[in-house]
Amino acid sequence: MTEKRIHDLLIIGGGPGGLSAAIYAMRAALDTALIEKGVPGGQVTMSDEVENYPGFKHIGGAELSMKFAEHAQSYDLEIITQEVTDLVPGLEYHTIRLANGEECHALSVILATGGSPRKLGIPGEDDNYGKGVSYCGVCDGFFFKGKTVVVIGGGDTAAEEALYLAKLAKKVYLVHRRDELRASMILQQRVKNDCNIEILWNTVATEIKAGSDGVGAVVLKDTKSAETRELPTDGAFIFIGFVPNNQLVPAGTKMNADGFVVTNEKCETNTPGLYIIGDLRDKYARQIVLSAADGCMAALAAAHYVETRKAAGIEACEAPAGLFGTEN
Ligand code: NAP
Repeated sequence: MTEKRIHDLLIIGGGPGGLSAAIYAMRAALDTALIEKGVPGGQVTMSDEVENYPGFKHIGGAELSMKFAEHAQSYDLEIITQEVTDLVPGLEYHTIRLANGEECHALSVILATGGSPRKLGIPGEDDNYGKGVSYCGVCDGFFFKGKTVVVIGGGDTAAEEALYLAKLAKKVYLVHRRDELRASMILQQRVKNDCNIEILWNTVATEIKAGSDGVGAVVLKDTKSAETRELPTDGAFIFIGFVPNNQLVPAGTKMNADGFVVTNEKCETNTPGLYIIGDLRDKYARQIVLSAADGCMAALAAAHYVETRKAAGIEACEAPAGLFGTEN
């Protein structure tokens, strides 16, 4: 009978956080594998341009994520291309179940599954998805060349995507529910200076209507006057934040009210050997550089944890001292 393989570390998710964790783990000589259901890269692959990752004044999101992946793979990182269906914490080792029915085991696990676009939840949103409703300008913008599009949201993503779409579309309406954008000042200024973008302040979308060929109009409501009107458009791009992909987070792991996981500064959870990093972690800001930093921190902490476990003869371990108690 073959002996069960127990990795030192399994990383779930191949975005900037997961890949950064892999780089640090491989350099710490941990027996590591990264599990990713698609192509490594994460959400950043959807960004047209990244301008705030140190060392790169301008770089395409796909190019940056390719560089992360190449860097991690240069250490001969084992990549398992599978969807993870379950993460079962154990006292001796953690078990990860894969969609193909196989199981992997590890002393430590770093969960880096990020988040997904938040939906508006209005009539016509789901029905017209892929027919004019989109959550990714870089992926779908090309189909709206010379057309009119509505972008909904007021954060960094909505601003960046509106700017990207303004290069392709005939006209971009940016619909925001308040009279002030949430996006960073530099993006706000660019949006306001782009003559192809018209901002519709204090406005919410209440319905997306189909036309003869995909989306035909968005019903808008003025939040001050409560007046409604129909704005003809060929597309509706929705960027109103994202929801954490926390489906694999084991029961009993502390989360905040929005479903982001609460950790200490080492990205440790209250489950020994389980670390949460990147956009899934409760934190002040969500940035590529912060996901990469989380990956570094968690991998270093995991290396120390694994070393301690091995020195102790891989006995079951207790929860990190003081975590979520009065000391934290
Ligand atoms: P976000 O910062 O949470 O902004 C979401 C926007 O959508 C807000 O303007 C919000 O309005 C609006 N909104 C939320 N729910 C809504 C609803 N039901 N109806 C209408 N509008 C709604 O999300 P994000 O822009 O996706 O950014 C997520 C994180 O990634 C942020 O930390 C952001 O800084 C970061 N990010 C950074 C960059 C960059 O640095 N270049 C690029 C992309 C994202 P209110 O303002 O009224 O709340």
